[in-house]
Amino acid sequence: MTEKSKSKERPIYLDYHSTTPVDIRVAEKVMYYMTTAFGNPSSVTHSYSDEAEEAITQARNDIAELINASPKEIIFTSGATESINLAMFGLIKDCSKKYKIAVSPLEHKAILDTCKNLSKKNLSETIYLKVDHKGRIDLEDLEQKCQEGIDLVCIMAANNEIGNIYPVNKIGEITDKYNVPFLCDATQAVGRIPINFEESKITYLTLSAHKMYGPKGAGALVIRKGHSLNPMLCGGGQQKGIRPGTLNVSGIVGLGESCRLRNIEMMEDEKEIKIKRDDLLNFLQKNIPELIVNGDIDNKLSGNLSISIPNISNSDVINKVRDKIAISTGSACSSGFEGASHVLTALGLSSSIIGGTLRIAIGKYTSNNDIAQAKNILLDSIKYLQSKSLVNSK
Ligand code: PLP
Repeated sequence: MTEKSKSKERPIYLDYHSTTPVDIRVAEKVMYYMTTAFGNPSSVTHSYSDEAEEAITQARNDIAELINASPKEIIFTSGATESINLAMFGLIKDCSKKYKIAVSPLEHKAILDTCKNLSKKNLSETIYLKVDHKGRIDLEDLEQKCQEGIDLVCIMAANNEIGNIYPVNKIGEITDKYNVPFLCDATQAVGRIPINFEESKITYLTLSAHKMYGPKGAGALVIRKGHSLNPMLCGGGQQKGIRPGTLNVSGIVGLGESCRLRNIEMMEDEKEIKIKRDDLLNFLQKNIPELIVNGDIDNKLSGNLSISIPNISNSDVINKVRDKIAISTGSACSSGFEGASHVLTALGLSSSIIGGTLRIAIGKYTSNNDIAQAKNILLDSIKYLQSKSLVNSK
């Protein structure tokens, strides 16, 4: 760390969908397994490996408990992107066939770009599911498509831009009825809302530590018992050969500890987060009557606030506030990218609304003081830009 970065005052962090700070209790465990108990769990000839192996078992149990899965169903990966690629490529077992993959158009790029990649290789055809202007999935359309014959359904548990929570249990009932595997990207949901893998009939579920106060580069793919996947990598046969390679012990410990803590603290934390989100939203709505809330406000992650101020450019707002608050225009991967958000486009929003969209995401470390400051910073900046645009239009 440089002296300059140490002394620099940081903006208030309101971008918890992009990533979260690592909980200090998690960081301490990670540090211990990096520096002291650093063994390779596959080495079996000494106590270093025994200690690492025990830690992996504990992490597996803690993850399984948070999502009600069996510990045996968990495959460790480097994060949700890898888990998604492993599930989708791993499903392709017959290269002479074109797999039909039904996806929500609101999925993360990790899913959509994998679909594109598979179709470019002539291995699959992408079928888009219907969503309405609030980003809700049309379940009748899903059922009809499953009935017509689909090889995989991909629907996320919660959206990373608009925060919508999807009815994964109902979706699972439909896919199960037609015997269609269901890949659920639960990256934004696990650790924020209850997920019950066992009951949901999800076939493949992805999760990632850095979205729940754990380290980056650690995640998992949960594979329902009785379902197999072709590995993407060849190597030392770890993890039943499905995802070989020396286990990232400290990362896995971090993921496990994050899950253990979320299991204990999630409901209480999310209640507090919702109070803060609603406080900020009420203030902005009162002072900016033209403000639009994107997505399904009745079914949203507690910390999510996707808002649009028509005719005000979101990049102008970001430029104005960036030294004071950290917010974004859309998903982490596409902000800074010139094109319009594919999620907002799929909702059928006008370009003036899309161009004025801000994504604010609150987390467990957001304080009341942070919210109080964010209110004034946002309001002042938006009012300033509105008055400027009024002058320019005269
Ligand atoms: N899926 C969703 C919904 C996400 O929000 C993200 C990260 O932004 C990913 C997948 C990719 O996760 P990771 O960073 O663990 O690869």
